[in-house]
Amino acid sequence: MLDFTIQNVLIAADDDYATVDVQIVDGALAKLAGGIAAIAPNLQAIGTVIDGKNKLLLPGFFNAHTHSSEMWQRGIMSVFPLELWLAELYDFTPLDPEQVYLSALGTAVETLLSGGTSVVDHLVLIPGLELETIAIATRAYREVGIRAFIAPLIQDESLSAGIPSGESAQKHEPYFRSTAATLEIIEEAVRQFHRPDEGINILVAPTGIQLCTDALFQGCSELSDRYNLCRHSHLLETRAQEKRAQEKYGCTAVEHLKRIGYLSDHTTLAHCVWLNDADIAILAETQSTVVHNPLSNLRLGSGIAPILKYRQAGVNVTFGCDGASSNDSQDLLEAIKMGSILHNVTDSDYQHWITPRQAVEMASLGGAKGLNIADKLGSLTVGKQADLVLYDLTNLSLLPRTDPIGLLVLGRPTNVVDSAWVNGKQIVADGKVTTINVDELRQELFNRSQWETKRKSQTVAQIEAHYRTVMGL
Ligand SMILES: [Zn+2]
Repeated sequence: MLDFTIQNVLIAADDDYATVDVQIVDGALAKLAGGIAAIAPNLQAIGTVIDGKNKLLLPGFFNAHTHSSEMWQRGIMSVFPLELWLAELYDFTPLDPEQVYLSALGTAVETLLSGGTSVVDHLVLIPGLELETIAIATRAYREVGIRAFIAPLIQDESLSAGIPSGESAQKHEPYFRSTAATLEIIEEAVRQFHRPDEGINILVAPTGIQLCTDALFQGCSELSDRYNLCRHSHLLETRAQEKRAQEKYGCTAVEHLKRIGYLSDHTTLAHCVWLNDADIAILAETQSTVVHNPLSNLRLGSGIAPILKYRQAGVNVTFGCDGASSNDSQDLLEAIKMGSILHNVTDSDYQHWITPRQAVEMASLGGAKGLNIADKLGSLTVGKQADLVLYDLTNLSLLPRTDPIGLLVLGRPTNVVDSAWVNGKQIVADGKVTTINVDELRQELFNRSQWETKRKSQTVAQIEAHYRTVMGL
């Protein structure tokens, strides 16, 4: 990277804004490569000068939970709850690594152009091509230059095991790969691809209690301890999963995960819709992070996560888009808006409601905390790494001029990202991703797809009657 100075840029300062210069230097002057060296008015210009006039500078947000390859099925998934939706999803999931590559590029681009500089990709692995899937997603994220947290999605029980049994004794096919073989794949992925200093991180990421044995969770915890990896999982996204946990463990999923040692200050848990007060206290005590995916929760009818209760209990919360098949977009600003205002209907005490500034902090520092890097990222602080986003405040959707952060969070910002840097390297300039050819990507996505309407999922046909019975429908 080159040293640079952003001049006369607006930043958030206490309850107000300040116009400052921000110096970014490589190496020596900052404690970290690509670091923020100084933030103050009228600094001496170092390196390239960037005009920050009429622009707002914020720390990059974290898209803290998504599944990149779901991009291929956005817009077409049936109107289903999660369990049936998943069955349909997997019947049509992409099996060509080239598709994984393209959808990872697409996920990165859409995240960047909606304020994100980091993405947690709970990556669906192509059976038999697991390491190839991780390799090609890694390649895509390296090419774009976004900071990537690749969380290979693993399970060791077959899909039908995720649905409550109810009265009937259900038999499930054994999963096609052993728990030990799955853990070996993850360990090999860590050896080959985990390079935090280069912006590529591997996470351990069992999909969730409904499809994973204790052996898989504990194996993941061991890998996490041995290689200093963050931990990720879905948690209690649906009422069916809450029921399944009771059947499986005779206690809540959170109590069980605590007992087997999966919860920690570097564990991020997607959804957390169906938790009780005791569960919330456990998340606070273990310093686990909740990743709120409001659009997906609405789309799949999963419920409204008790985000205001989490915040009052001191649980760290950040935002994710979730996969583009349950969203059906990757617009982080949209997720942040929805994830903030949705909760106003859950608590009449408006003093608990999430303000735009709090939402920005949740999306930036909240993500960094969950991924155990709050000392390096998540705020505009001297000494931290320069993962930054510059917003164009002259954009029509941010006018007329009022409160910039209010406009950004509560409005409907359209093409407002002017520039973005990851670790001091500029990867968006003049509103365009500079590292890859986005027109080519657009052409590839177009050429490799077709207009479709209805599809027939075999698996849904097999499980729907049982699902309706156990869920009392
Ligand atoms: Zn998910």
